[in-house]
Amino acid sequence: MTDDIPFDKTFDLAPGRVEEVAPGVRRILCDNPSPFTFKGTVSYIVGRGRVAIIDPGPDDERHIAALLDAVRGETVTHIFVTHTHRDHSPAAARIKAATGAVTVAEGPHRPARSLNIGEAKRLDASADTDFRPDMPLPDGEAVSGAGWSLAGVATPGHTANHMAFALGGTDLLFCGDHVMAWSTPVVAPPDGAMSDYMASLRKLAGRIETVYFPGHGGAVRDAPRFVERYIRHREGREASILRRLDKGAADIPTLVRAIYIGLDPRLTGAAGLSVLAHLEDLVARGIVTADGEPSIAATYRLGSG
Ligand SMILES: [Zn+2]
Repeated sequence: MTDDIPFDKTFDLAPGRVEEVAPGVRRILCDNPSPFTFKGTVSYIVGRGRVAIIDPGPDDERHIAALLDAVRGETVTHIFVTHTHRDHSPAAARIKAATGAVTVAEGPHRPARSLNIGEAKRLDASADTDFRPDMPLPDGEAVSGAGWSLAGVATPGHTANHMAFALGGTDLLFCGDHVMAWSTPVVAPPDGAMSDYMASLRKLAGRIETVYFPGHGGAVRDAPRFVERYIRHREGREASILRRLDKGAADIPTLVRAIYIGLDPRLTGAAGLSVLAHLEDLVARGIVTADGEPSIAATYRLGSG
């Protein structure tokens, strides 16, 4: 399924080590590896002297200390957050308390749609609902610091409030979890929405930045072409769902077994949610019907009912 995307899984940064990845851009890895976070969350430091931090990471004692150590003798003026998942935003509170920096993000956490029964708890597990940006950033607007500016590029899909940041005067984009070199991200309702996600990919495919720095793993090179592959990959997954439904009605576990061959068992739940994200989109477009509301437990069939 994924051999159509030229994934790059090389990423050898040791946790806590500061590395300059581009002029005026440093990165530092948090030691929170998992099937969803790869080697862990990557935080970025932009500028010199008076700097911005992008995605301070989880509420992790060692990572927060390493980040503050990395900017010793400098002033942190801004903390940017790409989205409010617990591996990206919670450290903002303590870094703000330590530095007096202003937090910048698209907005607080919100689901992509109203919740079905039983979904509130799942949302709680991954979302940082405490984070509220001091400075909500509208799409396309920039924040300028000392020798740098970062423009918000609204990229909903992975979460409703997901925002990438384009570094002014360069062809660099800090893309959070929207695009990653090593894997595709989970697009899981109710945080995420497939129609938004695809629209955000198409938006990035038309932009000029060629190098993306993601929230996990190494840089994405030749980014517009990589994003085109991502789009085709999701279209391929949608086609697989439709092919399976063409053989008859199916529930989500059946579709996951049919579509994800050789899946890491730890990712079965996430794969089910990704399939749900596709099905919600297909139901909204009138291509598929669900018995009742589209949900993780529903059965789906082809046709507009
Ligand atoms: Zn993440």
